[in-house]
Amino acid sequence: MFNNLSEKLDKALHVLKGHGSITEVNVAETLKEVRRALLDADVNFKIAKNFTNTVKEKALGQNVLTTLQPGQLMVKIVKDELTQLMGGDVEGINMSGTPTIILMSGLQGSGKTTFSGKLANFLKNKKTKKPLLVACDVYRPAAVDQLHVVGDQIKVDVYSDKGNTDPVAIAQAGIAHAKQNGHNVVIIDTAGRLAVDEAMMTEISNIHKAIQPQETLFVVDSMTGQDAVNTAKAFNDVLNFDGVILTKLDGDTRGGAAISIKSVVNKPIKFIGTGEKMEAIDVFYPSRMADRILGMGDVVSLVERAQEQFDEAEARKLQKKIAKNQFGFDDFLKQIQQIKKMGNMKDLIGMIPGAGKMMKDIDIDDDAFKGIEAIIHSMTIKERTNPSIIDASRKKRIGKGSGTSVQEVNQLLKQFNQMSKMMKMMQGGKGKAMMNAMKN
Ligand code: GDP
Repeated sequence: MFNNLSEKLDKALHVLKGHGSITEVNVAETLKEVRRALLDADVNFKIAKNFTNTVKEKALGQNVLTTLQPGQLMVKIVKDELTQLMGGDVEGINMSGTPTIILMSGLQGSGKTTFSGKLANFLKNKKTKKPLLVACDVYRPAAVDQLHVVGDQIKVDVYSDKGNTDPVAIAQAGIAHAKQNGHNVVIIDTAGRLAVDEAMMTEISNIHKAIQPQETLFVVDSMTGQDAVNTAKAFNDVLNFDGVILTKLDGDTRGGAAISIKSVVNKPIKFIGTGEKMEAIDVFYPSRMADRILGMGDVVSLVERAQEQFDEAEARKLQKKIAKNQFGFDDFLKQIQQIKKMGNMKDLIGMIPGAGKMMKDIDIDDDAFKGIEAIIHSMTIKERTNPSIIDASRKKRIGKGSGTSVQEVNQLLKQFNQMSKMMKMMQGGKGKAMMNAMKN
């Protein structure tokens, strides 16, 4: 996410980060570089210029050059301005309706349907919410089917009426259906076109007027940069929407849309999409995003993602298994699946301060666990629960079945053994002794 921009800003701020003496001249040069980095990231020229002007004014106002750590203060000013530019405070969704009606808008392919599912899943996991998804795309039957697939996947009801060609009527019927069936949130997925056109604008505007949603969200593909900002403007002029959803941030190396959109439409970015999976949704925190862009990591979000996947009952079961020395490959597989749900690997690593930069050139395959999973899937249930029975001929069979080599099977078995031993030591109250041993 935003790797290119992070790299350029890092280079620009290098001098100020204490790698040289700081003078008025190199502050000016640094700011020029910062502006160039923003322009390369597809940030609008005026916004980039205002940004560096404000940073300069603040730096002068705070007498940066005479402070003890001028470099750090400059980086802080840049970070604070970047946070302000992306929205400042976090703004949640207005959930005041009974039911709360959320209208999704945006171009075709922006990620509306996917995000509708993600949001429904996100709200459903809050326990007090029972969402209903409504399919209002009357032009593409496949879009309606797609929403049903998503609904099945996350176990959320979907309302659709395929023969009906009136999206307003479908939306209204969907809301009535929600009321009758105890749904307290209705998420309405609408049709999008490949480009902004009058017919689409009239249609979404009619739906908007008829259903009076508590929340109208505009979904946009962040990878489209300045186009994303222009499309946002067009939709905002018609809908006066409440918030922006930036999707596909996992593939966006530039970050121009994230940085510019707020100051152009004056509406907050509320959520971001960071992958195709239903779990790849994050609340947008401008300050955390600024940290990530400046290579400072985002440990808070990392911990939150881990917590979201953490199931206390499951953890207790697992602890018991470890204590009884019953931790097997099936449990291992479950752990891998939980980690995978936390998001894409490169993205996760980017949340560790400094790690993103360190590992920028290393290609981290998102399917890094594929080989391991294949090996485990090729084991019999008996082998998974009791790996010690895996002898040479079994190894050969597993290697063949998983399309890997005996060496790879051996390596996994060895790692698994080491891990089991370590787990047992931690359980046995020998954790401290082990930590000490590791220190020496
Ligand atoms: P819609 O036409 O606006 O409803 O868009 P879709 O929800 O069908 O999404 C279009 C494509 O983008 C699909 O292939 C999605 O899987 C993909 N997509 C949606 N959101 C994200 C995201 O956050 N990251 C990535 N990498 N792909 C996404």
